[in-house]
Amino acid sequence: MNCTACTAPLTTSAQLCDACAHGLDVRLDELPVYYLLLADRLQPGAARGDGPVALVREAPLPVRVDVLTMRAEGGMVSVLESWREAMQDARGWGRPARVGTIERRVQAAARGLRINLDWIAAEFPGAADMAREIRHLARQANALLDPAPGVLRVGDCAADLGGGDICGAPLRVPAGAASIRCRLCGTDYPPHTWMTLATGAWAPPTGAAA
Ligand SMILES: [Zn+2]
Ligand SMILES: [Zn+2]
Repeated sequence: MNCTACTAPLTTSAQLCDACAHGLDVRLDELPVYYLLLADRLQPGAARGDGPVALVREAPLPVRVDVLTMRAEGGMVSVLESWREAMQDARGWGRPARVGTIERRVQAAARGLRINLDWIAAEFPGAADMAREIRHLARQANALLDPAPGVLRVGDCAADLGGGDICGAPLRVPAGAASIRCRLCGTDYPPHTWMTLATGAWAPPTGAAA
């Protein structure tokens, strides 16, 4: 029997290996935080230090549509709620309530999935699709967080969250930075590793997690 998400061999009957289950748990924990942080990114030019303020004043855009889409009905909240609903349905439970603000609903849906993570990893037939979709969602939300000028994207985090579940969050270097830290998993990348990251030729990340 193999993990349905990453095909790693499993010693016991389950849908997800420990690494994929852990990765899913980490991302479900992070998504409500991303949701909150993205509120600061709704306006173009917001969260910029010494950005081109004059430019923004002359041609004000009302809102960043990509951020709005992620935070609105149909965005992050709908992905989380539909997976929670599918999970509850598979368990023979009723539909979870969708009440309160979208922020509250994101929190409730993510929490509802996390407290059932053991069952999802062991038995939920949709576990692999869910793990992949949540990983994609976390990457998208993360990518929306840092559009500041003067920040270079170096590559994707190569840290192994365990058993081959590669973190994959985008890594960026602010001007003058001496180190890069992955905002998803906390791995530090000193400057001598940046070229390797940028070329995507990352060997097993031994020694990267200082
Ligand atoms: Zn796996
Ligand atoms: Zn990472």
